[in-house]
Amino acid sequence: MDNIIEVKNAVYEYVDEETTHRAVDNVSFNIERGSFTVILGHNGSGKSTLAKLLNGLFKPTDGDVLVDGINTRDEDTEIEVKRKVGMVFQNPDNQLVASIVEEDVAFGPENLGLEPKVIRERVDDALKSVGMYDFRESTPHRLSGGQKQRVAIAGIIAMQPECLILDEPTAMLDPVGRKEIIETLHKLNKEKNITVVLITHYMEEAENADRVMVMNDGVIIDDNTPKEIFKNVSLLKSVGLSVPQTTELLYTLKQEGFDISTDVLSIKETAQAIAKSLEEK
Ligand code: ADP
Ligand code: MG
Repeated sequence: MDNIIEVKNAVYEYVDEETTHRAVDNVSFNIERGSFTVILGHNGSGKSTLAKLLNGLFKPTDGDVLVDGINTRDEDTEIEVKRKVGMVFQNPDNQLVASIVEEDVAFGPENLGLEPKVIRERVDDALKSVGMYDFRESTPHRLSGGQKQRVAIAGIIAMQPECLILDEPTAMLDPVGRKEIIETLHKLNKEKNITVVLITHYMEEAENADRVMVMNDGVIIDDNTPKEIFKNVSLLKSVGLSVPQTTELLYTLKQEGFDISTDVLSIKETAQAIAKSLEEK
């Protein structure tokens, strides 16, 4: 298996004078190169702490995190790790630095000391890949939340990372903006083969992922395909997550005695499952 990230018994503790808080508690998993993984968890479950461990921003209190085989503890290779793993955060306003979209996207490549011609190519390519090329001369504050977040993603893509980690990138967006971001991430994953690790508390965003990990209280409590994860409605509810409405509906119908498949996720599949169940009656 070709893993871009390996997490081995990672622990992270926040320590102040009086207290020690273990936010990540002995977690181990690998992220396969080219995969699309969603990490689900409610507030305070340790998602952001874990995200910071994955790109070396935090060093584990115990255990190890390897990025493309490089231990994030190794100070000589810190920059290499940060280049391989790009981070996108919740608030696009905090991530945009320039007053023109294309200047903002150029900021990272400029800092890498690339030639102007290469920078131009990377900026154009990054903006096209997130569907924001037509807005290259706009000013970010005129854009919608979803558009701003796509520009922020372009700024990271322009550095050509192998892996993108997004920490609740849709939390501040409206449903349209959220959909734009999720579609953009799937496009980047398929067309550019960028490994995606999407952290969210919106279950619907996990629907098309290769894999879903559920985090609670610093540990990974479930790790499977979306369909398998969503079958476990009671576990998800017990950790404060609400399942997609389609799953909830099928689950309830089944409890009411309907002979119905709960092995579906999309609205279309759900409609078909209900139709089939009615036909058979
Ligand atoms: P999430 O992103 O899932 O909301 P976090 O990783 O931000 O979770 O936080 C996990 C736990 O660690 C929470 O209980 C939170 O209160 C605690 N925590 C986060 N940041 C700090 C900090 N700087 N100092 C002390 N505790 C923290
Ligand atoms: Mg968080």
